[in-house]
Amino acid sequence: MHSIIDSHVHLYPEEVNKDPIQWAEVNQEKQWKILCTRKRRDNSPVQLFPTVLELLKAMDDACVERSVLMGWYWETESSCEMQNAFYKSLINSHADRFSAFASVHPKTKQIKSLIKKLKDDGFSGLGELSPHSQGVAIREKSLSEILTAASELAMPVNLHVSDPDSRRYEGYVETPLKDFIALAKRFPKTRFILAHLGGLLPVKYPEVRDLENIYYDTAALPLLYESALWPLFLSHVDSSKILYGSDYPLRLYPSKTVKTGVSDFIQALESSCPSEITRAALLAGNIKAILKL
Ligand SMILES: [Zn+2]
Repeated sequence: MHSIIDSHVHLYPEEVNKDPIQWAEVNQEKQWKILCTRKRRDNSPVQLFPTVLELLKAMDDACVERSVLMGWYWETESSCEMQNAFYKSLINSHADRFSAFASVHPKTKQIKSLIKKLKDDGFSGLGELSPHSQGVAIREKSLSEILTAASELAMPVNLHVSDPDSRRYEGYVETPLKDFIALAKRFPKTRFILAHLGGLLPVKYPEVRDLENIYYDTAALPLLYESALWPLFLSHVDSSKILYGSDYPLRLYPSKTVKTGVSDFIQALESSCPSEITRAALLAGNIKAILKL
């Protein structure tokens, strides 16, 4: 039996879950509303809004020992504070099951001291961030401050990446792949975890293999790519650079199940890994090494 850690999980407090659409309207989170309360063509929801107990049960069912909770690229500072307060309570009450990445807004004043405080509060990293979605140019000073603080405090940064060649869905945000290469080069001491296979960055720009500070997670893979793509991705990336992440509570196989499909995804990954070493590294070993778990 493998040790399994899910490196990309989202969860929201009860006040959001109760009525996500209304919450988003009151709190001016327009993009989140589009992305997270969408319906599929058959009118079923794109994602679920589970409670903490439901997440713990889902983890038990899929033999996931720990989840790394991801924040969101909120449009307002107050939403970042709400998310961080919620996650702080969870990593305190369930230290054995949860790690968490914090949400930060680039427009926050004295961002460095905030990030230091987040580290002291027990946060392991920053993310899921998306300067493109928050309307922040990648050369903006505030983003530099965030990425510099992250490297000084040894906090990895998870960034949302959209594949420029993927189909467009409602709420799709352009994230030019060259921006991530530029960031990784400008901040060589910052560890970047590029979500969603980094939009296939290493397949499209094989030279990024030389950039030691770039990692990739598998969040939402079944929704984004055919299974045939996985071996191609593996052939372009060192297996020590890939982290299993689901993007829970997104429904990964909407035509197959009304649930999130996390167990199916783990099984699919396990059976398509070329070796036992790759499997163990991808499912837990790599993120354990990064977060010193
Ligand atoms: Zn994402």
